[in-house]
Amino acid sequence: MTKETMEFQSETRKLLDIVIHSLYTERDIFLRELISNSADALEKMRHESIIQQDVFDKDVPLEINIQADDKAHTLTIIDTGLGMTRDELIANLGTIAHSGSKTFLSELSEQEQKNTNLIGQFGVGFYAAFMVAKKVRVQSRSYLTEEQGHEWVSDGTGSYEVDECPGLHRGTKIILELNDDCHDYAKDETIKRIIKQYSSFVSFPIKLGGEEINTVQALWTRGKNEIKDEEYNDFYKFIGPAYDEPLSRLHFTADVPLSIKALLFIPKENMEHMGFGRLDPGVSLYCQKILIDQHSKNILPEWLRFVKGVIDSEDIPLNISRQSLQDNALVGKINKVVTSRFLKHLAEMAKTEPDKYTEFWKTFGMFLKEGATSDFIHREAIAKLLRFESSASEPGKTIGLAEYVERMTEEQKDIYYINGPSREAIESGPYLEAFKSRGLEVIYTMEPIDDFVFSHLNEFDGKKLISADRADLDLAEPKDEDEKKDKLDEPVALSLTKWMKEVLGDKVKEVLESKRLVDSPAIIVNPDGFMTSSMERVMRATNPDGGLPQGNKNLEINTGHQLIKDLAELRIKDEDLAKVIVEQINDNAMIQAGLMVEPSSMVERNYRILSQAVKG
Ligand code: ADP
Repeated sequence: MTKETMEFQSETRKLLDIVIHSLYTERDIFLRELISNSADALEKMRHESIIQQDVFDKDVPLEINIQADDKAHTLTIIDTGLGMTRDELIANLGTIAHSGSKTFLSELSEQEQKNTNLIGQFGVGFYAAFMVAKKVRVQSRSYLTEEQGHEWVSDGTGSYEVDECPGLHRGTKIILELNDDCHDYAKDETIKRIIKQYSSFVSFPIKLGGEEINTVQALWTRGKNEIKDEEYNDFYKFIGPAYDEPLSRLHFTADVPLSIKALLFIPKENMEHMGFGRLDPGVSLYCQKILIDQHSKNILPEWLRFVKGVIDSEDIPLNISRQSLQDNALVGKINKVVTSRFLKHLAEMAKTEPDKYTEFWKTFGMFLKEGATSDFIHREAIAKLLRFESSASEPGKTIGLAEYVERMTEEQKDIYYINGPSREAIESGPYLEAFKSRGLEVIYTMEPIDDFVFSHLNEFDGKKLISADRADLDLAEPKDEDEKKDKLDEPVALSLTKWMKEVLGDKVKEVLESKRLVDSPAIIVNPDGFMTSSMERVMRATNPDGGLPQGNKNLEINTGHQLIKDLAELRIKDEDLAKVIVEQINDNAMIQAGLMVEPSSMVERNYRILSQAVKG
């Protein structure tokens, strides 16, 4: 049979029309599509040559050769794969029988075929060649010994021609006569760049003008036991890109229910901490070594953006659009499986390499805290990985919530925490004394985000997380009875608190006699159990007009403290001075709670009190 001219199937024509007229963005992907077809054909050839003896050109090496001719403005891609017969050329390139392009078309009609940007994000297989070429020649010869070579030629409009083509070797040669505005694709540096971006990990050599371009192996597809540390580190440096070694790595494979191969790295440095701005996700999604989505926003949760690496799943279609990755159920499942596995890896590190975990926590703890507040699915696993100082930890050393729970006494129901700018500030403030006197451990939350994390978690291991500045703290009587000081009589105390509330007016919600204070005269506590003083400070700072009411706190006083006892007497002798002192006590307690007071009136009042003191 000699030369034949044939019409494209109507669906194919429609697709070609879109490819030629609408796909201006992301033209680079045409090469990814053609190389991936070649890699498929080579893979199939490798398979055939194992099971079949009778193969044409049996000893030709399996590889892809690319020739860019900048003078003739042509780009040629040659593979030594299994090739195509005449019938296969017609069936494979004249119709769209394969699923990828079909999905493309159906999704496209939904999108009204208007959004060309969106179209550019699809892979369209072989037809992508027409994004850059005005004429495409495909010369192919099958591996079957009784077949001859043929050439398929088209300008991508209505029809194509097929003719005999003698003298071919096994495999497929695609010659692109480039469009006038696509001459860049006949330049070696352009082609090299695209191969490195999309096809770095293809298993067969890709040669450009004889030079092998893809020298990095798809390490994640090999068995763990056969990979040396050095190879892992080199790979990390390549994908990072990084100059140092990673802090830790996780390489794992799963087959059921999904096929997943993942190779993830934790870097040594946190670039976000170092002021480089918000990180882009560092993990890319591959399907059988071909890049699908670089720095994918969908394959891992956002809070894991510090992780670098590769996730490969052959279950994901190569032609999937980036748009549909977002709500693809499969991608969602992979995300969940890999995240859980990664959290398990961290838990193992915390157990077996505690020093390394401490280093990790110092550098990347902020991301886990972000996860604890934003990731409902993994919240419990993340909670186990959080680390804080506590009243029982050595200064500068951290503990986990599980360790705290282990140390809890039988009577203790809740987990307590208190926020402050530093260990010293917390330990010299009034909040700790009630816990100290009862022998209870308190976690120190020293970052503003910590209280939001605890409020999101709400509980750990069935125990409530309670901020020590809550008004309704339910603590047992102190063990040490000696700590109980001589207190004001009940009626005197009651009258004093009532009068103090009158003096302070709207500045406080209530003034009450404290059950918790030991050494401090007064303390600010929160009747709203959900909002801690630290959270309130952050919210007021970030949104000054946020409508948070003033005076929503309780002032508790220690009626066993000498200052308070003396105040009760001063109130009778010199009420004006006593009022000024009440104001000052409230401001002092507010400052210890980390809350804002009006500085100028506070200082002015303070001087008035000092003048009185100096007079004696
Ligand atoms: P897909 O790769 O998604 O099936 P394409 O439009 O890219 O769709 O290719 C259509 C078919 O043409 C392929 O399934 C394959 O059978 C055949 N084909 C394309 N390129 C080659 C090649 N280089 N070697 C052998 N067969 C090929």
